Amino acid sequence: MEKAGGQGRKGLSLARRLHTSRTLGLALGLLCVGAAMHPLGPPPWVWALMLFNALLWPHLAFQWARRARVPYHAEHRNLLIDAFLGGFWVAAMQFNPLPSATTVSMMAMNNVAIGGLRFLLAGLAAQLLGIGVGLVVFAPAFVPPTTPLQLYACLPLLMLYPLALGWICFRQAYTLGLHKRELLALSRTDSLTGLLNHGAWKDRLEIEFQRCKSLHKGAAIALIDIDHFKAINDTYGHGAGDIVLRQLGKALKQNLRSADVGGRYGGDEFCVILPDMPLFNAAQAMETLRERFSFLAYEQNPALNVSLSIGLAAFDPSHAEATQWLDDADRALYEAKSGGRNRVMCYSDGKHRREALGSV
Ligand code: GH3
Ligand code: MG
Repeated sequence: MEKAGGQGRKGLSLARRLHTSRTLGLALGLLCVGAAMHPLGPPPWVWALMLFNALLWPHLAFQWARRARVPYHAEHRNLLIDAFLGGFWVAAMQFNPLPSATTVSMMAMNNVAIGGLRFLLAGLAAQLLGIGVGLVVFAPAFVPPTTPLQLYACLPLLMLYPLALGWICFRQAYTLGLHKRELLALSRTDSLTGLLNHGAWKDRLEIEFQRCKSLHKGAAIALIDIDHFKAINDTYGHGAGDIVLRQLGKALKQNLRSADVGGRYGGDEFCVILPDMPLFNAAQAMETLRERFSFLAYEQNPALNVSLSIGLAAFDPSHAEATQWLDDADRALYEAKSGGRNRVMCYSDGKHRREALGSV
């Protein structure tokens, strides 16, 4: 696979895929074309060219593409050579219907699978050119009947090649699907803490808000902010600040229930959704987090003196939008800060009250 971020050379994985399909397709094609050519008694150089095309060319083409600066461009050229030679053999077989149709259609299938309409049309043009050259070289007559032997010689290509190409396409689609899911997960994750990032968490808040509204359920949200975090950065450096942020992310993961949704709201601010949890219980859970985190941070580095301010708000059915819920939690956080920091505050009925849970 080409590496993400443009590190891999463009088309290297395409060249690998084509090496497999070309090796198989041209080996099976040798049976088909050979059976059609045999009754025509072609000269030795034609047999040699046929063997070269069927058995050596796939590996030569791969090496050519592998060593190219842009393998994708090299493979584009290789596919045109495939198509040209295909057209050449169609003329050489004197347009024997079944082998000719098999050759042309298998190549068309290959080209359209690799490069869509553009490759299909370019391939057709190269095939026409190949037919033209074949006409000049062989001055063929038209051979209308296909013998039973020639028919059987075409069957392996007709039956096996579409299967192989289908399998290759399926595997590619599967891998792309995996990459897509990985990228989506990355785009929703905060790289420093591994928690949901701002946008992803707000999406979950919206979902929880709608769930509470439609099912008449309750829930609480918490906004958590590190106290005087700027001072930690300024005094001990950005790296030490990052460690504290990571520690808080870890503490959130360890202290939340599996249904709770933690995120990094931005900077030194974190956020949690606590579904189906009354405000009082949510305040207790956050109080535990606050105490444990202060203790953990003190254990790591007593000089840092890290503490948390936490604002909580319960779901309010009278709110029309999830952002109002967030505003409630923000107001409670503001109260926690202005009340002296290192504490949990709840927003309730327009009044902020300090939780009687032993906050400092
Ligand atoms: P308060 O108690 O009022 O919350 O004070 P504070 O210093 O924590 O508040 P403020 O919002 O002014 O500081 C947040 C700081 O967080 C400012 C910013 O430089 C820092 N910061 C934001 N993102 C990161 C990060 O990813 N890593 C580190 N180390 N610092 C960050
Ligand atoms: Mg802060």
